[in-house]
Amino acid sequence: MSITVKTFGRLADAAAALSGERGACYLAGGTLVMRAVNEADPTIETIVRATDPGLLHIAVSSGRIELGAGVTMAAVLAERELAFLHPVARAVGSPAIREVATVGGNLFSPRGDFATALLVLDATVMLVGGLGQREQPLEEFLARRERSAALVSSIVFKRPPADALRFTKVTRVHPRGMSVLSIAAQLPMASGRVTGARIAVNGMDRMPMRAKAAERALESRTLDAAGIAPALAVATEGTAPVDDAIASAWWRREILPVHLGRLLLGAGRS
Ligand SMILES: Cc1cc2nc3c(=O)[nH]c(=O)nc-3n(C[C@H](O)[C@H](O)[C@H](O)COP(=O)(O)OP(=O)(O)OC[C@H]3O[C@@H](n4cnc5c(N)ncnc54)[C@H](O)[C@@H]3O)c2cc1C
Repeated sequence: MSITVKTFGRLADAAAALSGERGACYLAGGTLVMRAVNEADPTIETIVRATDPGLLHIAVSSGRIELGAGVTMAAVLAERELAFLHPVARAVGSPAIREVATVGGNLFSPRGDFATALLVLDATVMLVGGLGQREQPLEEFLARRERSAALVSSIVFKRPPADALRFTKVTRVHPRGMSVLSIAAQLPMASGRVTGARIAVNGMDRMPMRAKAAERALESRTLDAAGIAPALAVATEGTAPVDDAIASAWWRREILPVHLGRLLLGAGRS
């Protein structure tokens, strides 16, 4: 079966083409889409691309950061202003994958390491299509991503304070295998105690998710073994990991508190 490729200069036109055609699939870096094409996925009849320059835009101004959805992991790594995200971008696949894998595509990955960090940064997704332009909190977007008829144009978030973003990726194939799970956290402190923690985990459900029970259990606690114990005890609450080729759901539940504990006690600082 042949596949038609349609390329548009404006993302809005690409979004319109997608919504008007069954069997159409948007292609960004293609690390996941081209794998599906090569496996002869019968649901893909048309590939829609966009060359909109806005997709490659990186804007940093007075604490606000906007990443075009087509920004690659390699482009993130080349930008000094995004140094706090370098450990996350570096964790995505091999150098060849990072050269093309985009920030927007990562929001749709079954194992979105970058999306996990964006969740902790309380990012907002800017969307184009259907009802025009609109924005949506990333957490809300991820919960309905399969049903989204719109395209992501960019992702916006506040720059975190220096050294605030912690990230760790657990893999069985070192150094850069697919993640069994990954964890990102921001742990603001006041008078030596945690206040308003944000923790996100990847690999514990079909998409990256907030670890809300652990966040609540950390409130007003100290970051030492006794202080974090209640958070570790509830770390798997609300998660729904699956058995897959990388690890069993049981194993993921077993190791989440171990790696979360290490992260909270100081590992994974950028
Ligand atoms: C060998 C290998 C290793 C990998 N390792 C990792 C890893 O360690 N960590 C990790 O997080 N991921 C990993 N991935 C998954 C993937 O490479 C990344 O998640 C990447 O960021 C996906 O981006 P892409 O641009 O290649 O997406 P594409 O393949 O182009 O698209 C993926 C999906 O996202 C949709 N999409 C893309 N952009 C948009 C947009 N702007 N708006 C709406 N929908 C959009 C596409 O329609 C498609 O459904 C790996 C993949 C491979 C093949």
